[in-house]
Amino acid sequence: MSAVLDVRGVSAFYGRIQALDAVSLRVDEGEIVALIGANGAGKTTLLRTISGMMHAQTGEVVFDGRDVTRRNAERIVGMGISHVPENRQVFGTMTVDENLVLGAYRRYRKAGKAAVESDTRRVFEVFPILEERRGQLAGTLSGGEQQMLAIARGLMARPTLMLLDEPSLGLAPLIVKELFAVIGRLRGEGVTVLLVEQNAHAALNLADRGYLLEVGSVVLEGTAAELLSDERVHAAYLGGAGDGGAGAGGT
Ligand code: ATP
Repeated sequence: MSAVLDVRGVSAFYGRIQALDAVSLRVDEGEIVALIGANGAGKTTLLRTISGMMHAQTGEVVFDGRDVTRRNAERIVGMGISHVPENRQVFGTMTVDENLVLGAYRRYRKAGKAAVESDTRRVFEVFPILEERRGQLAGTLSGGEQQMLAIARGLMARPTLMLLDEPSLGLAPLIVKELFAVIGRLRGEGVTVLLVEQNAHAALNLADRGYLLEVGSVVLEGTAAELLSDERVHAAYLGGAGDGGAGAGGT
């Protein structure tokens, strides 16, 4: 298997505050990899350094064999990484269709609506509920539907790697189950996924492998099954968790 993403010894700071300390992680083609950890562990920061929203102070981020450590975010999207940030950030006063077009904006601007129609069709196959809602304002969708729209918009950029930041945040357990089934389907679309979650139970049930981040460092890595049965993961993140899992309610 070849690495789609290879993060090597990345450290990152906010001013003088160190958020990541020599983090290394890899994601192979076709995998779903879960990155779990408590609030403030550095999960969001790691996604930001991968997608170019901030830059690593030391270390390297290699995507598809190319060093993207110092590239800007727009270039990185163009290369095939889609970052779906926390809190779903859809444009509430725009329709579902309009939100989707924004995900393919560069192509849309160059070649018009027809150029993105095949992408919209593909996205509707993965998210049939969005086709039903296509003319509806995004702000009137349920939380789960808005999260699906946020992921669908990311898919419109034709990524080979998607970075999903806490998609389950604030969603009811049943909706989380539905959403994770859809994330599982991205694999069939040729998309590799790095999934950040506090809901360790749901994430590890879906993922092939996982990493546990604590205070800016990777403290554990392994197959999803290994992490699910690890004492530390159990004690801190799975204790007494049912299907909804620990931390499902989020922050
Ligand atoms: P959460 O689940 O709360 O999003 P996280 O694991 O994603 O947590 P990060 O948001 O990456 O964690 O935060 C890592 C560290 O960096 C924390 O100590 C946090 O307080 C700090 N941090 C995050 N964003 C900023 C910022 N904009 N300015 C200063 N410090 C920040």
